[in-house]
Amino acid sequence: MTTAPSHLFYQSRQPRPFLDRGEGIYLFDESGKRYIDGSSGAMVSNIGHSNPTVLAKMKVQMDKATFGYRLHFSTHPSEDLAAKLAGLMPEGLDRIFFVSGGSEAVETAEKLARQYAVTQGQESRWKVISRTPAYHGGTLGALALTGGKLFAGPFAPMFQDMPHVKAPQTYLDRDNLTDEERGIKYAEMLRERIEAEGPETVLAFIMEPVGGASTGALVAPDSYYKRIREICDEYGVFLIYDEVMTGAGRTGKFLACEHWGITPDIIAMSKGLGAGYAPLGAVAARSDMVEALLDAGGFLHGFTYAGNPLSCSAGLAVLEEMEDHDIIGNCARMGEVLMSRLEGLMERYPFIGHVRGKGLLTAFEMVSDRETMAPLPKEMNAYSELVELAYERGLIIYSRRTRGGVEGDHFLICPPLIVTEPQIGEIMAILTDALDTFAA
Ligand code: PMP
Repeated sequence: MTTAPSHLFYQSRQPRPFLDRGEGIYLFDESGKRYIDGSSGAMVSNIGHSNPTVLAKMKVQMDKATFGYRLHFSTHPSEDLAAKLAGLMPEGLDRIFFVSGGSEAVETAEKLARQYAVTQGQESRWKVISRTPAYHGGTLGALALTGGKLFAGPFAPMFQDMPHVKAPQTYLDRDNLTDEERGIKYAEMLRERIEAEGPETVLAFIMEPVGGASTGALVAPDSYYKRIREICDEYGVFLIYDEVMTGAGRTGKFLACEHWGITPDIIAMSKGLGAGYAPLGAVAARSDMVEALLDAGGFLHGFTYAGNPLSCSAGLAVLEEMEDHDIIGNCARMGEVLMSRLEGLMERYPFIGHVRGKGLLTAFEMVSDRETMAPLPKEMNAYSELVELAYERGLIIYSRRTRGGVEGDHFLICPPLIVTEPQIGEIMAILTDALDTFAA
């Protein structure tokens, strides 16, 4: 196997073959081996790899100009993409700020809320409450919002940690409540936290509408979403939806907030927006907030590559491709197919304890006991074992070892949103083969 060059480093030493090319839901290494991209990278490549229409549109922009600093020029791709995105947002969120990735989007949302509060004479509001478990990014500011020791542990006290509330993991609860009652119970934890912190100090609450890397496609009861919005309104706390993973169609609607009819105050997006064609993220905000900031002298924030014409041309081409081929509709339909196929695995494998998700943000969790939902022994390293077995067989899946401070192996199966039913069949065949070997 060809290994990665030794001068390059990421998280670990695990060598991987060199990537040669991509085509639709498939990736090929230099030896010609084919892989199904069953996790769309890290839930990024929503419209599949090497889409010729997107590449052709990017090429047109490349031949004109790849960069023009935003303080020196307006560009059509950034203006057009902002207009298009504004049209896809819940009513009122029609101002768009471009960034290059998810962490930047999250920090932009935070800073926008904070600077706006200051312009309103609310200097005392600075705390951003987040959930644990959560994942909001790797930069220090975003990490402060990322509850749990897994990602943040060794870096304290370099950053100011923010207050957290427990994210609803109602499938683990053993009480007599209905799911809806549990949703309310968890949402009310936010009220308690706001009260405990002092409502005059709380600026915002941030949440992933469907957990991604944090809880593995976990959806809260419907009642949770509505009650969270009500509590934020009651205390004048901004509600920020981190749709970095869920946005751009991944859950079967353009934004996950649409499933519950919730209008957040700010939305952060990335991943599927550039869909792997270019680094791109966006923040959508209420126009009254943005206007107030601009009136007060401007938003004190920006990144060099923000809104560069090449990334924006990619984003625009990706959105057009999604519309032209009803890719979000396909995601909703194929999400149901995949979910029922994954549920079917529970009959065959007693160690699959929970299947969950929305659209093509789908996952399953392994347990040693379905009744108690006790995890598999840590030493089994199930989360990496199964990923490797699948990888050898040409299927890429994405896993995590914790479910929020407590052990628990979960696996995200999130192919590109263009996946077809026969291709889901291919995914399931390889996954079953890998699971059989795992179980043996
Ligand atoms: N928020 C969420 C919900 C994410 O899933 C991620 C990435 N996994 C981020 C933020 C951070 O994005 P990035 O890695 O592009 O900075």
